[in-house]
Amino acid sequence: MKASELSEYITAVRDGSIDLRGYQERLMKKLHDQNSRLELFSKLYEKPGGKNAGTLAALPFSVKDNICVKDFLTRAGSKILIGYRPPFNATVVERMREAGAAFIGTTNMDEFGFGTFSTNCAFGTPRNPFDDSRSCGGSSGGAAGSTAILKHHVALGESTGGSISCPAAFCGVIGLTPTYGRVSRYGLIDYANSLDKIGIMARAIDDISLVLPVIAGRDRKDPTSMVQPPLSLDGKKIKRIAVPEELSREVSDERIISMFWKSIDRIGDEGIEVEKIKMPILEFSIPAYYILASAEASTNLAKFSGMRYGKEGSHFENMYNTFFTEVRTEAFGVEAKRRIMLGTFARMVGYRDKYYMKALMVRRKIVEEFERVFRDFDLVASPTMPLLPPEFEKIEEMSPASIYALDFLTVPPNLAGLPHISMPMGYIDDLPAGIHFIAPHWEEGRLITIGRVWEQEMEYRFPMSLEGLN
Ligand code: GLN
Repeated sequence: MKASELSEYITAVRDGSIDLRGYQERLMKKLHDQNSRLELFSKLYEKPGGKNAGTLAALPFSVKDNICVKDFLTRAGSKILIGYRPPFNATVVERMREAGAAFIGTTNMDEFGFGTFSTNCAFGTPRNPFDDSRSCGGSSGGAAGSTAILKHHVALGESTGGSISCPAAFCGVIGLTPTYGRVSRYGLIDYANSLDKIGIMARAIDDISLVLPVIAGRDRKDPTSMVQPPLSLDGKKIKRIAVPEELSREVSDERIISMFWKSIDRIGDEGIEVEKIKMPILEFSIPAYYILASAEASTNLAKFSGMRYGKEGSHFENMYNTFFTEVRTEAFGVEAKRRIMLGTFARMVGYRDKYYMKALMVRRKIVEEFERVFRDFDLVASPTMPLLPPEFEKIEEMSPASIYALDFLTVPPNLAGLPHISMPMGYIDDLPAGIHFIAPHWEEGRLITIGRVWEQEMEYRFPMSLEGLN
């Protein structure tokens, strides 16, 4: 059981019992020192500010490096955006600041979100605070790692195919990915528009329920947010949970799967019925996801050409070939280039029907399959990741396709736009593992409810709390 420490902090800020300037100075200094070792932040903001009133009074918050902060370097982990300072704030940043929160910096990520281990980042590789020879997960690796070392803080992350859940599991924190369209994407540097969702990482379920209403809701600047039912955090009582065999069967680490079944038994002890089910279509989610995500990514990246944003080209003769080619060759990383090629191929005339259209059909079927399951069940559960945070050395030996395959637990709810949450499930060899819950569209409240149930069972461990208050 972990009581929210944020509320205490916020109350202390409001009634003036914290010397805010001094506190922030000490915090930023400690963060600087830690960052040279852990590389969680892409850039720290020296003067967080914030207000001493509001729902989130002076609460330190970080954003993933693909969420625009006005006049502050925002580079989506890519060299092609070196020097880019957005002329506006993302809606989520605007809303956090209006609620009083204090921005402390941007967090390191895989270039444009392309990755599972945050090893494809141009501005440092975030290291897991539980063991710095291991990955934080990805692509919101810095966001999860910073949450693991800071007691009074929340991170805004972003998920396309699992980039909130995966790092949350690897760093032993909570990661909530809301329904697609629940939180405005205005000011988010797109990876794949039909999949991208901004979400929250925090250390306690109460912190998630404190921050979600601040960032959620309609925003005229993002049409996909305009049709949504009101957010209710009182999810109905959870009675039945489904565990798809396809999701549990392929977890190769026996320790994770046995911890998962023990956790499920404990949930059963709370009077919740758990049943194994079959969802065969999920076997196709990885190929469908990588085709769709890459197809969208390849068109999104076309605008980075050395002219409008960030890095500028220098080769002005023969403009249309040499200029663009030079900048893109030099500034995009290997994984970004791979995605551009894969995505361009999948939507070419002649291949479009065979790949892109087929992937869209699979996606539709996955949505229908979840809808069918949710007629009988309140939630779907699985482990979050099939492995513990791997060592960087091991990652170097993995092929791109084998890395993609590791996303099979987190991709299905992302493809279907369903809200999901990863909670710390336990510790194996002193490394955290995560448990994953998926809810029907717009039912974030059910995730909060199950989060509370689960939190009763759990004693979280954090590698450190930089504030030095415990
Ligand atoms: N690992 C997945 C990918 O590389 C998911 C990343 C994400 O959600 N941004 O696409």
